[in-house]
Amino acid sequence: MRIDILTVFPEMLEGFFNCSMLARAQKAGLAEIHLHDIRDYTTDKHHKTDDYPFGGCAGLVMKIEPIDNLITALKKERNYDEVIFTSPDGERFNQKIANSMSMLENIIILCGHYKGIDYRIREHLITREISIGDYVLTGGELAAAIMADSVVRLIPGVLSDEQSALSDCFQDDLLAPPVYTRPAEYKGWKVPDVLLSGNQKLINDWELQQSLERTRLLRPDLLDRP
Ligand code: SAH
Repeated sequence: MRIDILTVFPEMLEGFFNCSMLARAQKAGLAEIHLHDIRDYTTDKHHKTDDYPFGGCAGLVMKIEPIDNLITALKKERNYDEVIFTSPDGERFNQKIANSMSMLENIIILCGHYKGIDYRIREHLITREISIGDYVLTGGELAAAIMADSVVRLIPGVLSDEQSALSDCFQDDLLAPPVYTRPAEYKGWKVPDVLLSGNQKLINDWELQQSLERTRLLRPDLLDRP
């Protein structure tokens, strides 16, 4: 899978994508993440990517031209399944969307900044708009990082034990059961006996029971989903 991220602050994301699981996924050739600086696609000599909004309200709006130039250049190289814009008024991101995105081949994620982007970009170039929650960020970079992270870890082979992605929270609309590691007892705080029993069937039943209980208690809304 290839993810092209379009931003005016690529340096905000460089470190993030060079660490941990995302770095490993790229080294293993399972994911390609490319950061593009929108400023490189301006034609004016000051590399201006934003301008004052029509109508006189405060703030700056990202211009169409460099973003159009960049998306056009990328589309010349390959077909894209989606051109996503990160936006607080978009569809709310969740594990289901992450699952379906992880099956795509090529996606573009455009990060807005300042007051947002010229609306015509959204009307003519964007195929999907996604929000990571009901709050407003300074820019779409963190939203792009969150999406890329949750999508890439679902690509088969990225996590060393594929099962560990399948047993995460929200897969199957259930919260994950608690996990423990050694020592089995610390300051008198004990790991549940069943996990030390060696009986896999009992352990699976206990984990499912815990998932159901935690979901009922903490996120009952998940159990009502169709
Ligand atoms: N004036 C805009 C907010 C601009 S914030 C409004 O009220 O809708 C600047 C940029 O940050 C946005 O264009 C978007 O790309 C990004 N952003 C902010 N909050 C976000 C969120 N919750 N999810 C995804 N992207 C977000």
